[in-house]
Amino acid sequence: MALIEFKNVEKYFGDFHALKNINLEIEEGQVVVLLGPSGSGKSTLIRTINALEKINSGELIVDGRHVDNASNQDLAELRKHVGMVFQHFNLYPHKTVLENVTLAPTKVLKISKAEAEKTAEEYLQYVNMWDKKDSYPGMLSGGQKQRVAIARGLAMHPKLLLFDEPTSALDPETIGDVLEVMQNLAKQGMNMLVVTHEMGFARNVADRIIFMADGEILQDTTDVAGFFDNPTDERAKQFLGKII
Ligand code: ADP
Ligand code: MG
Repeated sequence: MALIEFKNVEKYFGDFHALKNINLEIEEGQVVVLLGPSGSGKSTLIRTINALEKINSGELIVDGRHVDNASNQDLAELRKHVGMVFQHFNLYPHKTVLENVTLAPTKVLKISKAEAEKTAEEYLQYVNMWDKKDSYPGMLSGGQKQRVAIARGLAMHPKLLLFDEPTSALDPETIGDVLEVMQNLAKQGMNMLVVTHEMGFARNVADRIIFMADGEILQDTTDVAGFFDNPTDERAKQFLGKII
């Protein structure tokens, strides 16, 4: 069974048709990179997966759960298993790094504080942020905040991690550390769907590229090198700056 399945999914914002007949199956163990120009519906698509946006029609099944007609309880359950890393981190500013990482495990998964702190240490070590455990987000660089946000996602032991332009708001010198963490996660088999403009990352790490424009999937391929070297879709060519 696919981990994520979209069947004829449509999404509107008022009259605006944001997702057009999306059909997509993502299997476990795939690192999928979603590319496309600004405004093409990448964030909307990724946000439907944990029901931050509701679809208007079609079917959406994530980890065996029907997101399209889920109860609030089902959605709460789904969100325990699907982590999301945002462009702007969304850390709690008045909580320390350690508190940011232990909050959801203690509140949502109801595990003990001691257990949550053990898990937080493991993942903060993993992203090389344990030495900042007592700092507040305001004292950290963008790249450091994003690594804390990734540790916070991992502490929930998610089945799937969604990344929406995780490095777009970062200073160039801090991007590399974040991409390195993501690359390590990919190597370790984490299921990841990543929206990014980091083409080097996409080329090196993706098992599959999905290219969107104007709310449609125009190309969907596991020939990642081929996509970059010889894109078949005209919009993809333009996007990659390969107009001949
Ligand atoms: P991308 O992430 O590819 O840049 P988005 O998914 O954010 O694109 O947006 C796709 C289109 O949907 C854009 O034209 C955007 O203006 C529109 N859109 C996104 N969210 C909303 C919203 N909440 N209300 C109205 N329009 C929206
Ligand atoms: Mg976006």
